[in-house]
Amino acid sequence: MKNRIFFKLLAAFLIVIAAAAATLDLVVGGAWEASLRTEIERNLTQKTLLFAHRVESDHTRSLAEIVAQEGQAAGARATVIDASGKVLADSESNLSPDENDAGQAEFAAALKGETSSSERRSENVGIPFLYVAAPITGGAVRLAYPLSDIQAVQAEVHRRMFWGLAIALVIALLVAATASVITARRLERIVDVAARIERGDLRARVDDPSVDEIGRVAVAIDRTAGQVERSFAAVRSSQRQLETLLNSMQDAVIAVSADGLVQWANQPMDRLVPQRTRLNAPMVETIRDPDFLATVKAATATKRVCTGRATSIVPGRAYDVTAAPLPDGGAVAVLRDLTETERVEKTRRDFIANVSHELRTPLTSIQGYSETLLDSIPENSGHNRDFLEIIRKNAARMSRLTEDLLTLARVESGETRFEPEPVPPIELLNDAEESFREIARGQGVELQIDGVGKNGQKSTTASLKAPDLPSGDGSVESLPQVLADREAIHQVFSNLIDNAMKYGRSGGCIVLGARHAPRGIEFYVQDFGAGISSEHLPRLFERFYRVDKARSRESGGTGLGLAIAKHIMLAHRGSIRAESELNHGSTFLFTLPFA
Ligand code: ADP
Repeated sequence: MKNRIFFKLLAAFLIVIAAAAATLDLVVGGAWEASLRTEIERNLTQKTLLFAHRVESDHTRSLAEIVAQEGQAAGARATVIDASGKVLADSESNLSPDENDAGQAEFAAALKGETSSSERRSENVGIPFLYVAAPITGGAVRLAYPLSDIQAVQAEVHRRMFWGLAIALVIALLVAATASVITARRLERIVDVAARIERGDLRARVDDPSVDEIGRVAVAIDRTAGQVERSFAAVRSSQRQLETLLNSMQDAVIAVSADGLVQWANQPMDRLVPQRTRLNAPMVETIRDPDFLATVKAATATKRVCTGRATSIVPGRAYDVTAAPLPDGGAVAVLRDLTETERVEKTRRDFIANVSHELRTPLTSIQGYSETLLDSIPENSGHNRDFLEIIRKNAARMSRLTEDLLTLARVESGETRFEPEPVPPIELLNDAEESFREIARGQGVELQIDGVGKNGQKSTTASLKAPDLPSGDGSVESLPQVLADREAIHQVFSNLIDNAMKYGRSGGCIVLGARHAPRGIEFYVQDFGAGISSEHLPRLFERFYRVDKARSRESGGTGLGLAIAKHIMLAHRGSIRAESELNHGSTFLFTLPFA
C-alpha cells in the first residue's frame, strides 16, 4: 500500500514539476530571449550608426583601420561597401567576402538610404548572425553580430533549468516518500483496527486526532465501533439474562436449527439426558423419543406451535412437549415433566371415582326407602310427608351428582373407551332429535333439525337463526361422514339439549344442525332463551361452573354436564365452544373430525 501511495504521489509531483518547467521555458524563457534579441538589435543599430558616422568623418585613419577598430569595439564583423555593392573593407578579412553584398537585404535597404537589419545563418561560418546596415555617402556600412551568444545563454538557461528540475525531483522524491509513509501508516492503522473489530475485538480504536479526510474516516470507524460495542454489550447482557432465566426454569428447553442440529440447551435439559446435550450435533443423538422428534419436526415444517407427549425420554416419566418455530428456521422445544401432575391428577380422579362408586349404593338405598315410605304414608300426614319428599329429592340429586362425577372421572381417565366410527352427521342429529322430541314437546318446546323438515323436507327455520349461524346449505344429509362414538356423541347432544330445555325454554324452539368447518363438521344446538353474558362464556366448560347456581340446582343441574361434553369431545380430538348473546339465546357448537 505504501508503495502505491508513494508512486502515486511521485507521479503527481513529477507532472506538476514538468508542467511548471515547460510553462517557465515557454513563457519566461521566450520573453527573456525576445527582450535580449531586441536589446542586441538596438545596441547594434546604434553602433552601426556610429560606425557609419566615423567612416564619413574620420579622415585621419584608413578605411581598413576604422573597420578593424569598429569591428573589434562592437565585437562584430564590420563591412563597408560601395554603391555597387563591392566590399571596400571588412574586419574579418580572412573570410572571403560575399560576391555581391549589395544583394543582401540589409545592404539593399541601406543603399536606398535606410538603416535596416536582418537575421540569417552565415554561409561562411554556419552560425546565425544579426546584420544591421546603415547608408554612407557612396555606399553602406554593416555590422554583423554573431547570435551564438544567445544560443549559449539559452543553453545555460536550459542547463540550470535541468539542474533545478533534478533538485525538485529529489525534493519531490523525499516529500512523496515522507507523505506516503505518514499516510500509509495512518491507513494501515485504520485497516488494522478494522481487522481487529472483524475478529471480535470491539474495543479497538484508531484514535487519529487529525481533521483531514483520513482523520474523519478514523473518527467514523471509532464511532461505529463504539456503537457496535454498546449494542453488543446490550445483546450479551440480555442473552445472559435469558440464559439465567432459562437455566433456572424447571422445564427443559432445547433449540434446534433448520437442519436438525442442537443449537442451545438449558441446564435442566442437560440433566435430563444422560450423555448431556452436544452443541451442533444432530438432535436425534440427544433425544430419540419419536413423539418428541415428530413434534419438533412438525413445528419446523408448519411454522406453527405444535404440542405432543413424550414418554420414552426417561423411562417411567411423561413429558409435555411444546415446540415453537424459530424465525430463521428450526424450532425451540420445551419439555415439561408431567409425571407428578399426572400422578396427582390420577389420584384425584381415582378418589372421586371411588367416592362416587361407594356413595352409589347407599344413595340408591335412601332413594328407594324414601319412595317406599312415601308410598306408605297417606297424603294428608302433614310434615312427615314433606320431610320424606325432601329426603327423596336430595337423594336423587346426590345420585345424579355421583353418576355425573363417575362419568366425568371415567371419561377423563380414559377408562371409558370410545369407539369412533364413520357416521353421517344426519344420523347423529336424527338420534338426538328422536330421543328428545317428545320430552321437549312435553315442555312446550319445538325441537328441529336445521335444514331438514319433519318429513325429510327442507325446513325454513332461517328466520329463527342467529345472524352468524350457517345456513347448513340446506343439505345436512350430504355432509361427509365424521369419526364419532355414537353413544358418546348422543350423551353430548343430551347434555346440550337438556341445558337448552332447562335454560332456553322461553324461546319455544331448539334447533339442531351441522355444517362444514375447516377441520371437520361442526354440530350445534341453538336455543332462543335468556342467553349467557359474555364474561361467563370462557368458563362454562369448567366443572361445577354455573351462571345461576340457584336456577341450576332448582332445575336439577349438577354443573358437570358441559364438563363431561368437553371431555368427550377431547377424546374425539374435537372441540367445543359456546356463542351467546344475552336475551337472544345461546348456541353450543362442537366439531368432530372427518372420517
Ligand atoms: P348444569 O348441570 O348446571 O346445567 P352444565 O355444565 O350443563 O351444568 O352447564 C353449566 C352452566 O352453564 C349452567 O349452570 C348454566 O348456567 C349455563 N348454561 C348451560 N347451557 C345453557 C343454555 N343453553 N342457556 C343458558 N345457560 C346455559
